[in-house]
Amino acid sequence: MAASLTERDKQVVWHPYTPQKAMPEPIPVVKGEGVYIIDENGKTYIDAISSWWVTIHGHANAYIAEKIYEQAKTLEQVIFAGFTHEPAVRLAERLLEILPGEFSKIFYSDNGSTAVEVGVKMALQYWWNKGDKKRNKILALNRSYHGDTFGTMSLSDRSVFTLAFQDKLFEVIFIDPPVPGAPLYNGSWDELACIIYEPLLQGAGGMNMYDAGELNSLLQQCHAHDVICVADEVMTGFGRTGKLFASEYMEEKPDIICLSKGLTGGTMALGVTACTAKIHSAFVDEDRKKTFFHGHSFTANPLACTAALASLDLLLKRDCQLQIDSIAQQHKQFIQQLGADARFAKNVKNLRSIGTIMAFEIESGRDGYLNNIGLEFTRKALEQGVYLRPLGNTVYIMPPYCITKEQLQQVYAAIDQVLVAVI
Ligand SMILES: *Cc1c(COP(=O)(O)O)cnc(C)c1O
Repeated sequence: MAASLTERDKQVVWHPYTPQKAMPEPIPVVKGEGVYIIDENGKTYIDAISSWWVTIHGHANAYIAEKIYEQAKTLEQVIFAGFTHEPAVRLAERLLEILPGEFSKIFYSDNGSTAVEVGVKMALQYWWNKGDKKRNKILALNRSYHGDTFGTMSLSDRSVFTLAFQDKLFEVIFIDPPVPGAPLYNGSWDELACIIYEPLLQGAGGMNMYDAGELNSLLQQCHAHDVICVADEVMTGFGRTGKLFASEYMEEKPDIICLSKGLTGGTMALGVTACTAKIHSAFVDEDRKKTFFHGHSFTANPLACTAALASLDLLLKRDCQLQIDSIAQQHKQFIQQLGADARFAKNVKNLRSIGTIMAFEIESGRDGYLNNIGLEFTRKALEQGVYLRPLGNTVYIMPPYCITKEQLQQVYAAIDQVLVAVI
């Protein structure tokens, strides 16, 4: 008998974030359809975390697929130094129209980590190009996550993710996400090149939500001291928090913004870093040393840019906006319901939501990413036909925007049942 896909997988594949001893078996998937992931036995799972926060319009969206197919027959890839093409230019034009702030240039890369690396490299080189040697420190927030490359690991909160590389990471000044009544930052402002922050919602750090007014004050202070504000909206972008971008909740806008994940509707890998005219102007110089020496083989890949344009078409439709609002409302009701449920009073904590994302902690006396409650939760939810993947003991929902009321109710019901089983 032929080996199963799972057995063949075990022989040759190494999965991300996956322990290699006693590895949980991956589920062989043959199809995606709307909110559903469909396995080889025809069993369906609602993808309640949008496949790691990317699949905003659901799986195998026919409109996006058609656009990618047409583009693939026309121009699939071309070197982006010295050449240009319509999808890259059009996407830049459209993004500049909707981004939160006065952005003037779009720089393409491949994913969220590279979008952030580019953003922080731009900020550092801005000061280097200006000949300001003193401005070389970076401010970041505790509990932040900005990616898995060395640069972005350095910018992220130190954790089990970064443990093995501690002595190779560059120094960053970490402060707490701003809270009412606490001082913002006590160090010297004029040594800071930039601040990097996930606006309002720290994703991988545990769906930590923080105050818009306080973040606005921090950004105000940064701008008052000429510190470049780099918003990592890799996860919060494209409607996730209820507005098109989380930065819209603050009056103070970023100088650099980093995007990926939902950018292509979750169909293709693409990163975008946008900057203001002020940042860009420091790179306009006869001195070749002031060039931004950064690029990737697939920079501005035409298929990915086309997918992003198609995703924007869908996102900006009134229907999609109504769906986002409706999900936000339903989350609020579910939070009320869970909060009032006596069965969970002792173990379900810190119920919260922003836009299409809701989260809470399970208090079980076992804390952190390495405990087993998350795995157990995932396994039991799968039995209910719902895919959830808690971060440690933080359970969250981040569905595709096309999820119907009935499907979302099914997700809530699964959480209810799993909670009863695990606490
Ligand atoms: C996922 C994520 C990243 C990294 O993106 P990748 O595409 O996984 O490299 C960076 N920042 C934030 C806020 C993220 O959620």
